[in-house]
Amino acid sequence: MFIQGYSEVSVKRAGVRSDVVCDLKWGAHFKFNRDIRELFPYINGAVPDARYQVRPPHTRFVHENVQCSLYPKEAMVAPFRGQRQCFLFIENLIRFLNDLYDRRKSLSPSHKVYREPVSVMDILKALPRNNCRECGRKTCMAFAVALREGEASPAQCPGLAKPITTYTVFPVLGEDGTVKSTFAIESEAGEPRADETRAPSADGKSDKTRRDRFGIRIQYDLTPREIEVLRCVAEGATNPEISERLNISPHTVKSHVIHIFNKINVNHRAQAAVWAAKNQVV
Ligand code: SF4
Repeated sequence: MFIQGYSEVSVKRAGVRSDVVCDLKWGAHFKFNRDIRELFPYINGAVPDARYQVRPPHTRFVHENVQCSLYPKEAMVAPFRGQRQCFLFIENLIRFLNDLYDRRKSLSPSHKVYREPVSVMDILKALPRNNCRECGRKTCMAFAVALREGEASPAQCPGLAKPITTYTVFPVLGEDGTVKSTFAIESEAGEPRADETRAPSADGKSDKTRRDRFGIRIQYDLTPREIEVLRCVAEGATNPEISERLNISPHTVKSHVIHIFNKINVNHRAQAAVWAAKNQVV
């Protein structure tokens, strides 16, 4: 049996407002006798509307009208009419989880992470808001709406900052070449994934290479104009000064700087200057 028991059950009155007429006022917290996180992808695949998260690993779902929040070694469940109902439900929940575990080979695990809905205004705040139209939309607002509706991809806006984290699911293949299981890696921004590569530039002259933390060769495809801008940045020039020196608009300079930062995986100008020196751009 996967989960053989539970302990440290704490049954408490849930925080129901005094003006609400409701007899479902109890909730429970308890600990599993083992780490159950390997079940989360199966719950995610089998339970409609399960909300799986990886940081911290947990999943939330409704089972028999009870809200369940499961962490690797503990769980919270609510609401109930009384303490007896709490205990009956915990037994029921553990039976449900053990049954899922027993049936796991016939189930399809899902590693899809639940994302809280995001508003158009929140997306807009992350965009450069210069209406440059490089994404094919007339305004950043139009792009934000399309992104919210799933009709656009973040990659279409070259000025959009790199994501803070990247989440990648890798397959584990058996001897017969079929996928036996999967594992996920969430890496911080600036830590390129092992499979991350960039296409070489057309002239092949501006490519700079280095190895990432996995020992994989990473190629940079700075354009000649981006190298010019990077040289100016490395010399300590401000955006208005670069604009004047290269005879391009401040907006274009800003756009180049963002592209450069994304390509060489740095977050500010001092890091870019160091990178330029190390890679003999200056
Ligand atoms: S490419 Fe980005 S900055 Fe330009 S209009 Fe589209 S969303 Fe706005």
